[in-house]
Amino acid sequence: MARGAPYLDELNAEQRAAVETLDGPVLMLAGAGTGKTKALTTRIVHLLNTGRAQPNEILAVTFTNKAAREMKERVARLLGQSVEGMPWLGTFHSICVKLLRRHAELVGLKSNFTILDTDDQLRLLKQLVQAADVDDKRWPARMLAGIIDNWKNRAWLPENLPAAEGSAYDGLGPQLYAQYQTRLKELNAVDFGDLLLHVVTIFQQHEDILAQYQRWFKYVLVDEYQDTNVAQYLWLRLLAGGHKNICCVGDDDQSIYGWRGAEVGNILRFEKDFPGAAVIRLEQNYRSTPHILAAAAGVISGNEKRLGKELWTEAEDGEMVRLIGHWDGEEEARWIGEEAEALQRGTRGMRPISLNSMAILVRASHQMRAFEDRFLTIGMPYRVIGGPRFYERMEIRDAMAYFRLVVSPEDDLAFERVVNTPKRGLGDKAQQKIQVEARSQFLPLHEGAQMLLDAKGLGGKGAVELQRFLDNLRRWQRLEASPEVTHVELAEIILDESGYTGMWQNDKSPEAPGRLENLKELVKALEQFENLQGFLEHVGLIMDNDKDDADEKISIMTLHAAKGLEFPAVFLPGWEDGLFPSQRSMDESGQKGLEEERRLAYVGITRAEELCTISFAGNRRVYGQWQSQMPSRFIDELPEAHVEVLTPPGLYGGGYGAAQTGGRSRLDQAVSDADVYNSPGWKRMQARTAQRPSGQAQESRNIVIEAVAVSSFSVGERVFHQKFGYGDVTAVEGDKLSIAFDKAGTKKVVARFIVSAADADTIPF
Ligand code: ATP
Ligand code: MG
Repeated sequence: MARGAPYLDELNAEQRAAVETLDGPVLMLAGAGTGKTKALTTRIVHLLNTGRAQPNEILAVTFTNKAAREMKERVARLLGQSVEGMPWLGTFHSICVKLLRRHAELVGLKSNFTILDTDDQLRLLKQLVQAADVDDKRWPARMLAGIIDNWKNRAWLPENLPAAEGSAYDGLGPQLYAQYQTRLKELNAVDFGDLLLHVVTIFQQHEDILAQYQRWFKYVLVDEYQDTNVAQYLWLRLLAGGHKNICCVGDDDQSIYGWRGAEVGNILRFEKDFPGAAVIRLEQNYRSTPHILAAAAGVISGNEKRLGKELWTEAEDGEMVRLIGHWDGEEEARWIGEEAEALQRGTRGMRPISLNSMAILVRASHQMRAFEDRFLTIGMPYRVIGGPRFYERMEIRDAMAYFRLVVSPEDDLAFERVVNTPKRGLGDKAQQKIQVEARSQFLPLHEGAQMLLDAKGLGGKGAVELQRFLDNLRRWQRLEASPEVTHVELAEIILDESGYTGMWQNDKSPEAPGRLENLKELVKALEQFENLQGFLEHVGLIMDNDKDDADEKISIMTLHAAKGLEFPAVFLPGWEDGLFPSQRSMDESGQKGLEEERRLAYVGITRAEELCTISFAGNRRVYGQWQSQMPSRFIDELPEAHVEVLTPPGLYGGGYGAAQTGGRSRLDQAVSDADVYNSPGWKRMQARTAQRPSGQAQESRNIVIEAVAVSSFSVGERVFHQKFGYGDVTAVEGDKLSIAFDKAGTKKVVARFIVSAADADTIPF
């Protein structure tokens, strides 16, 4: 009956083979957008439709809960009816939790075990580290957590750690790992890594149980196979070891979880472990236009270790990948906001595109702030996928509560939020006393607290700390009213003196660095307002107005969270060396790290169906300090023939889109329009813009900003930079110049942010 099934008609011959080869191992190895997930989903439908398996006899693993939900929806749509329970369709973790609850006693746990989050895990490790008298400054517990996670990802129990690991964590690693596992069992708890590890252990030690599941799960399917780690791989191999009905789909070029122990090598081992596997390659891409595919191919070809594959598409050429440089990050956000609106209205010569069809994919979550702020200001609805929105994050709400309290001391909600954050020894009881005192006198909490202290109603450390907190509060209020410090400085003072920043600096949990970065972003956001009050009103109003009822929203997420998804229009901001590729990843893993970053770039570009816009900023502000940025090396790897360089609206005075939308750069704001447009400097920049080579040099790489500026500068030339002032060019490297500035020292900057000193004199900065 399946022969005539309409869902099969939607597939090409190779996909159809993958769907119809039901027995035995199948490996589908193919590039982005070739319909791997589509084939996998159709295979599930086909298994059900042909009666090969009941919904609860199919084990299907995906990487995110969102992907699992989507898969269920697709199955239901193809079947034409809702799927009555597919309990074993989910992520590795969610499936392992279910399995472990059934057999917990076999690894010394009770079935109601708790799953520790990373904070709890770290707290536990800290206790063990302290008990072992380790200097936790040199050997932070967080480091041990990373090492143990790594071992668990490789499915190494304390008793079978390879000898080579013996020196880990100053030689104490193995011993502390064993203690940690014992302690977890005493607490009837597991960490994330244990979920898989325990299940693998159970399967390895209890053949009868393994055999039962091998019979039960008649078919095993795995999406995003390239991101499985060793423990996940073992788990799959054990479960599929009987009937070998396993179908894995993946793309080595999209492996982006090496930092979590994923092994691309698993793909290569598949054929060894499952001899006779049908290996199916898909080459037709159904998602993206040829320009987008070619740009992605150009970037990924920079990686050395690849299986290598060519993609083709029947789609029409469409738009080139667009590249645009901005003066700074705020301007980048402003431009993307305006561009999204323009695309929505259909004023870019394209069909109108819904906001739902647009996504902004960032490398690091702190990049989201600039976009969220901008979108809140212009009232553009957005959703953040895979995390809370910037102003909803805990650390941001805490910091804002401090600011609120300084601006309006009677804000009792803010007082409650921060009076004991960081810990000041003011537990529930002490806080209750403050409440009672304040309420009985009809006073705001801060005054009630002072009365309580004056009346000696509170003692010990709490009393001392509370007094200091109240004194600080008063001083900050005075500073707020005085012209001596700016509100940005005041914000830093508050976060610093309150101990709030310190609290996160001392926190060794994996989330802490991200929270500190978010706090920096918050301070950066303040710079755009006149004072704290203005900023708080801005956030308060927009959060209040932001009812979640808009039908259309633009999505913001990290590149990691975008895996497997697709959008007609994709924005890829922040392509700057250090940000993307991420400096941290290159420092930690060298060439390997760089290759993984490049795969992330490939994932990013291949999310786009019709329009892909890459951007970078020449400057970013970190804690009020300007930092000049170099365009990402990945930009140099984009093949010129497929990229259109857009003129930034800022420096070149309202070029692309700026005239009608009012996008203005700092330079624009700083000068009188008429004067600058008539200046020789402006004319020279325009001339450079016009020089953009078109058509010729198709193969030449290193496109970028040569198009708009290039090195018409030469060594020894006297130049001017808006931020760093005057200086002399000491080296020219493509579009990048080394300049010895008179005041700011030697810096590398992008040519287009530089004007000749002679021209600068005529521009009234
Ligand atoms: P990724 O590597 O990004 O996970 P993928 O290989 O899983 O991509 P899918 O998401 O399954 O690709 O498919 C990409 C797009 O192509 C989807 O919109 C899908 O509906 C469409 N598609 C896949 N196969 C076909 C086909 N045979 N005919 C028409 N459209 C198809
Ligand atoms: Mg997919």
